[in-house]
Amino acid sequence: MRELREAIEKMGIGVGCDIVKVDTFLNHRIDTKLLFQMGEEFARHFSPDKPDIILTVESSGIALAVAAAHALGDLPVVFAKKSPALNQGADMVLAPVYSFTHKTQGLIRTDKSFLPDGARVLIIDDFLADGQAARGLIGLIAQTKATLCGVGIAIEKGFQRGGQQLREMGVNLLSLAVVDGIEDGKIVLSNGC
Ligand code: 5GP
Repeated sequence: MRELREAIEKMGIGVGCDIVKVDTFLNHRIDTKLLFQMGEEFARHFSPDKPDIILTVESSGIALAVAAAHALGDLPVVFAKKSPALNQGADMVLAPVYSFTHKTQGLIRTDKSFLPDGARVLIIDDFLADGQAARGLIGLIAQTKATLCGVGIAIEKGFQRGGQQLREMGVNLLSLAVVDGIEDGKIVLSNGC
């Protein structure tokens, strides 16, 4: 997606050899014009798949999920939580996720009733690296009678294995930009998207 590629080229920072920092427009400060453009791009690709629900994981996926949900006709957004709460429902589904950025193992969870029988679920997230978050979310859906209809990602790190694994699983995956690598702090984008 041209607008996202331009933002990455202008404002993205490569940290070390594998971290893409986009705090100025996606992960800390949000460029809302770009956010809603990304939502529309997801809607163009995924509307034929007729999603009923958008699923993401807190916290940085939420804004993007809302933008996609709005563009797809004001669908509900469900975000998996990363920690237990006293007021959580009695019937929760849980899945293990290793956090790439925090280097910690945790459990994500959502109320089972928010993924009702027969619902078509579209996963939206900001990054795809090793695919832990996406596979955790797919694991939540697998414990319900809802079905996965696609995965939409803003930035895929093509040099990590998550994207390839999801494609090999037959997942309908759209990444709006793919990073091929980081060279001397500069982010190298794939020519494909
Ligand atoms: P995965 O679970 O695919 O390994 O990593 C995806 C999650 O880790 C995303 O939800 C994102 O929050 C975080 N993440 C992974 N790599 C990066 C990165 O290079 N930059 C940022 N900002 N977040 C990342």
